Amino acid sequence: MAKWVYGFGDGRAEGAAEMRDLLGGKGANLAEMSNLGLPVPPGFTITTEVCTWYYDNGRQYPADLDTQVDAALTAIGDMTGRVFGDKDNPLLVSVRSGARASMPGMMDTVLNLGLNDQTVLALEAASGDARFAYDSYRRFIQMYSDVVLGVEHHAFEEILDIFKEGKGHALDTDLSPDEWKQVIERYKALVEEELDQPFPQDPREQLWGAIGAVFGSWMNPRANTYRALYNIPANWGTAVNVQAMVFGNMGDTSATGVAFTRNPSTGENALYGEFLVNAQGEDVVAGTRTPQNITEAARIEAKSDKPSLEKVMPEAFGQFLEICNKLEQHYCDMQDLEFTIERGRLWMLQTRSGKRTAKAAMKIAVDMADEGLISHEEAILRVDPAALDQLLHPTIDPAARRDIVATGLPASPGAASGQLVFTSDEAVELAGTEQKVILARVETSPEDIHGMHASQGILTTRGGMTSHAAVVARGMGKPCVSGAGSIVIDYRKETLTAGGRTFNKGDIVTIDGGTGELLAGAVPMLQPQLSGDFAELMEWADDVRRMKIRTNADTPTDARHARDFGAEGIGLCRTEHMFFDDERIIAVREMILAETETGRRTALAKLLPMQRQDFTELFEIMHGLPVTIRLLDPPLHEFLPKTEKGIAEVASVMGVDPERLRARTHALVELNPMLGHRGCRLAITYPEVAEMQARAIFEAAVAAAKTTGEPVVPEIMVPLVSLKPEFDFVKARIDAMAEAVAQETGVTVAYQVGTMIELPRACLRAAEIAETAEFFSFGTNDLTQTAFGISRDDAASFIGDYMKKGLIDQDPFISLDPEGVGELVQIGCERGRAQRPDIKLGICGEHGGDPASIDFCESVKLDYVSCSPFRVPIARLAAAQATLKARKG
Ligand code: PEP
Ligand code: MG
Repeated sequence: MAKWVYGFGDGRAEGAAEMRDLLGGKGANLAEMSNLGLPVPPGFTITTEVCTWYYDNGRQYPADLDTQVDAALTAIGDMTGRVFGDKDNPLLVSVRSGARASMPGMMDTVLNLGLNDQTVLALEAASGDARFAYDSYRRFIQMYSDVVLGVEHHAFEEILDIFKEGKGHALDTDLSPDEWKQVIERYKALVEEELDQPFPQDPREQLWGAIGAVFGSWMNPRANTYRALYNIPANWGTAVNVQAMVFGNMGDTSATGVAFTRNPSTGENALYGEFLVNAQGEDVVAGTRTPQNITEAARIEAKSDKPSLEKVMPEAFGQFLEICNKLEQHYCDMQDLEFTIERGRLWMLQTRSGKRTAKAAMKIAVDMADEGLISHEEAILRVDPAALDQLLHPTIDPAARRDIVATGLPASPGAASGQLVFTSDEAVELAGTEQKVILARVETSPEDIHGMHASQGILTTRGGMTSHAAVVARGMGKPCVSGAGSIVIDYRKETLTAGGRTFNKGDIVTIDGGTGELLAGAVPMLQPQLSGDFAELMEWADDVRRMKIRTNADTPTDARHARDFGAEGIGLCRTEHMFFDDERIIAVREMILAETETGRRTALAKLLPMQRQDFTELFEIMHGLPVTIRLLDPPLHEFLPKTEKGIAEVASVMGVDPERLRARTHALVELNPMLGHRGCRLAITYPEVAEMQARAIFEAAVAAAKTTGEPVVPEIMVPLVSLKPEFDFVKARIDAMAEAVAQETGVTVAYQVGTMIELPRACLRAAEIAETAEFFSFGTNDLTQTAFGISRDDAASFIGDYMKKGLIDQDPFISLDPEGVGELVQIGCERGRAQRPDIKLGICGEHGGDPASIDFCESVKLDYVSCSPFRVPIARLAAAQATLKARKG
């Protein structure tokens, strides 16, 4: 008989932490905590296999599941001394989902299950607290009706608000037991009205309803969106956790809270969390009441006048602190915990690895390695390279004037400016037209995931540091200010008001997630400094990684940035970018439009000193490191004047008739410029351009060697080669120029000539090309374009549909297609190496800064990846992880 149900409680469990796939994250960790002897309310987990079975079998359950559930309920009853469904001594339970990967807010929870008109009396008798018993019952009806029966939450809120207003009560806690009874009657009437049947009184029916709702919610739109965003396969399924209830709302000696063993925003090694006295379950995360700090230190720092847990329940606090340490030592990671204190007695409801900002991830990894809890290698693997982007994001310039509108909580660091929007759909719409938006909501819910994703930053007026907005924004690496209570958002008028000022939809605002401030207008930002933990982790990564990291840089500013970020040379200098400069463009146009070689050489002579100066500067900045310079690549017409004024200007410099110039301009226009007269094809038609560039490179190498005192070994790269003869033709010109410069200067420069491999034919004929090419750099932008036959300039208009419709997981222009394009790269590597075993191989397409693509580059043993300057740190870490993963096999 298959085992579908795993029990836990009383210091024992049938499951364990490593059974996460089967029990889900929550179930596996509840079992583990139980095994560790921690106070966990007894319960059981229905496995993820049941979820899969359920969907494979038309939403039915395996035949023997109910017997196993009954046995597990009896076991909980034995441990608690209660009986499920018994009217005098009822066992009440919670039902929670728990997928393999944490999906915050995605799945629904039901508490107090088992309550009905009878058992509520028993709860009243057992607790001696009628208010508590009826409050619990009405919460159950509300939650169950919302999650299981589909009667919306706000309909109940409305009933309660009207009731309170009628009675003149401000707070829920003002209601007497009798008043709660009246509310309950109204709730039940609402359910009956909506569903044409009464609220279920049978605990067993309630339980199976809740189990079905958890499985059902695995496929709800919110869960589907979350899975799509985070690449979680649908067939993983969710588990269901059923646990004996413990109550945080049994009066002033009861409480419920959430905590992180270290600060999830900064990584500081200090217990961090929030709780509410006399509250239940979701009250803390829902953000409807402002929670209290757990430690005194945090309370003082937050300048809160509400007492900390440390102060109000010192004993439970002490025990909780001990458990935190135990769990952190046990899991060797920062934990995110949920707990309830029932009449002074502490119960643990959840532990899991806590989500954290990149900054915190870095600090925690480095600190834990320094504390000896994990190895350097483990620390490297703990930080998601893509998340480093957060640290590379700007913060507000301290010198800037801050026009502070309101202050909330600093929920997720970084700063962002954008247009104010009040709905997620609007955020998505504006982001689709490349506009930057700040999403402002009273509070966010899982329905807002898409809007949060599309925004630069998120602002809420309600909710704490662990509210939905805060948790999700941190995970996404977006700046977030939460709980800015002095702000009033009016959704209908589409306005935000604070401190007597009103902002409309579309107004530009800035949020500072580091200070919790909302600022008017756009504010100057500063680039981040990479030191401390960042530098330390990078050093460890550098010790481990096999591949070198170079950068794609065409300007001195880029090159300096990249060097500061740890680039080990330039892998691609796109020289055409140097031609677009205002001063030069006329000479470039003159060169292109010249009708004779002499005319062209005259124009080139003007460009030579400028190019020489460019290269000298790059060589000097990168002294001691390799610099790859690529010969001119783009279609010529890109340089041509597009306006009458532009044509007249060039015509006057060249002393020709504007009419002739216009005709020549038209003649150069191509139908498919990306597949046209570009790359080495230009050098075949106009070798003198390549010669001028080669001369500039060699003369710059001589000059830079003098100023830096170090020899410069330029790597000259020929673009868009598909035929060996193309490469040889250009190489011959370069070699001749090297010889000429050596003669003229008396200095012989060592250099290499290699090629971009960015066309399928070049991959296939790599062996032949490697006879004369001394290095290859895979240009995976063009290789993706030509392998797929998809124009890289037009892909954006339809690739999104391919992803939405599930035909591909990733845009192949962002993350290298490992199968198709990958196979071409692999063939290129193998054939190139077979011909020239020591050939240097690299990549310089956009993929060079993408962690998944870097993994691929490690698998074909490239010598280096080259990426844009801001991605250099990401690439350093990703390359180290790739090395470690390759070692593990
Ligand atoms: C490439 O094609 O991958 C490449 C790096 O060159 P470019 O993007 O300049 O065409
Ligand atoms: Mg290219």
